[in-house]
Amino acid sequence: MIEYIYLRDNSIFTTQASVIHTDEDSKGLYIIVDKILFYPQGGGQPADQGLFKIGSDVYKVKDVRRSDNQIKHYVSALPEIDITGAIIELEVDPKRRSLNTRYHTAGHLIADVAQVADRGLIATKGHQFPGEAYIEFTGKPDNDIKFLDNIKNGLKKAIADNYQVSIYYEESDKSDGFASYNKYNFSDQQFRLCKIGNFVSVPCGGTHLSQLSEIGEIVIKRCKSKQKITKISYELS
Ligand SMILES: [Zn+2]
Repeated sequence: MIEYIYLRDNSIFTTQASVIHTDEDSKGLYIIVDKILFYPQGGGQPADQGLFKIGSDVYKVKDVRRSDNQIKHYVSALPEIDITGAIIELEVDPKRRSLNTRYHTAGHLIADVAQVADRGLIATKGHQFPGEAYIEFTGKPDNDIKFLDNIKNGLKKAIADNYQVSIYYEESDKSDGFASYNKYNFSDQQFRLCKIGNFVSVPCGGTHLSQLSEIGEIVIKRCKSKQKITKISYELS
């Protein structure tokens, strides 16, 4: 059985795993293991990178993707011998993971604060890649300047008050629109939900800070509305 470590505890950066399979597809050479320590790109969050240590050799994990219900770890090379069944060491790059976790959590917070600042907005898309991060909403704020001020104040307050971030699971009958978010979680009947402070819960399979004091400062770079779509771009400092 595949164990999803990053979903359970995203502060674990090393573990041992057993190799299930190695192969090559259009993206390159890949390794499938029985423990998912590396975050696979998805939900707007970039993939983890890091190392696989196989015997005395070290292989760089350049990218991690979900494909055909498998998590493929793309490496620059594979050992010449068959490593199926071998126990190997996995090591996630902790700096990259931490930065991605901060950006991802900041995306949630911006969505939460913006939807309170203007009740007509609905967050529909998040892209939390450092350097190009944004959250997109359907709807347009009534008053751009007031909206932006409210967001900035809301972010400052949430961080200063150190809102807690909770992750929990809920049973579901799959009949609502959340089903697609859960495709890679523990069971078809469970949603993984993320909730910051008293904001609304949202289904999510990403990695999150446990409290907002760890986030740093969120800088809103742009807030633009066009044809009833509002896009808020941000970075962390
Ligand atoms: Zn999330």
